[in-house]
Amino acid sequence: MTNNNSNSNAKIIDRCKELAFDLNFNRAKAWKSEDKNRVLIGYLPVYFPREIVHASNGLAVGIFGAGDKKQIIKGDAYYQSYICRLPRGVIELALDGHFKGFDGFAFPAICDVIRNLSGMFQLLKVGTFVHYLDFPQNFDPQIGGSFYKTEINSILNNIKKINHIEVTTTQLNNAIKLYNKNRKLIENIYNIIRDFPWRLSAEDFYYIIRTGTVIPVEEHNEILEEVYDFIQEDSVKPMDKIKVVVSGAFCEQPPISLIKTIEMAGCYIVDDDFMLGSRFIKGEIPDNSNDPIEALSNSYLTMSIFSSSVYDVDNPKEERLLQVVKNRKADGVVFAAPSFCDPALLDLPVLQKACDNANVRYVSFQYAENTGQFKNIKEQVGAFADSIRLWSEELV
Ligand code: SF4
Repeated sequence: MTNNNSNSNAKIIDRCKELAFDLNFNRAKAWKSEDKNRVLIGYLPVYFPREIVHASNGLAVGIFGAGDKKQIIKGDAYYQSYICRLPRGVIELALDGHFKGFDGFAFPAICDVIRNLSGMFQLLKVGTFVHYLDFPQNFDPQIGGSFYKTEINSILNNIKKINHIEVTTTQLNNAIKLYNKNRKLIENIYNIIRDFPWRLSAEDFYYIIRTGTVIPVEEHNEILEEVYDFIQEDSVKPMDKIKVVVSGAFCEQPPISLIKTIEMAGCYIVDDDFMLGSRFIKGEIPDNSNDPIEALSNSYLTMSIFSSSVYDVDNPKEERLLQVVKNRKADGVVFAAPSFCDPALLDLPVLQKACDNANVRYVSFQYAENTGQFKNIKEQVGAFADSIRLWSEELV
């Protein structure tokens, strides 16, 4: 790889690093300022069908808390001590005016914390509308599918009241096409990382994926194409590390230093659920349908990825996790869940039992988005990686 190439790759990563953690959402706000009919719709984890906002002349902007980038003072006063950190950071951002210029918010129904947070946004009158988005728990298209279509149409109506844009089938199909491309590019990069994880650090990949939640999808697709090109060849030598899948971090995001710690402790992360919403639909949604809202609804019913935040009684997540471990040829699982995260922690025994039964080794710990001490985690993960490197034969 030439110096010029490596400089331009470093520039892409630096740009993503800046965009991914811009808590003022400057790129999104600048995009909106170019046209008075554009709207910004904030969405919380995990999954939100961003296509509908794109088709409405809008940009769906991911809100993942304040991480370790902002001191939380007022947010702590809003919440009791025994819940996760994410809502405190989001409230702090709201009270400090970071969402100025946002038109509406969607709160996907994943847990009581998010439900309460949506209520607080309503009380605080942040944005023109706040939609608590329920997902179907019945996977019959006539029942759960119809319900989900009603939810989507309700959000579209809320946006229409703001910018008076009537969404067309063509615009929806175009948006579906763009996000299909986005997910495909992300999956292609994951597939390369599975075989050559030293070509892109988990930290850099995280910046790249997270950037896609705060900029227009067209711009993110260009970035992903460039990244896909530059990981076609080795720029560094492989190291003696084990390959792991990280599971449990689908909502409140781990601090970047935690991701780095896992890698420095002797692991290559070959799959994870950090930015799960960006990869939530597995496969291509039809982009030439006469009823694109139905196509989006069907994609949720039949093509969703697994997560503790998703009701999946007929498609157990423990089996799907083991399938990911197998497909990625991983040596083990790192269960990393936010402290007090009900969905992740309630599922943990089920997932660990499945790993035990399948002889898949794992390590488990909890974090908060503003965790600052990583020594214990490094020792724990380091010992885990060593144990696999030294005793790699099957457990009995
Ligand atoms: S981290 Fe867990 S408990 Fe907290 S909002 Fe997210 S899903 Fe809910």
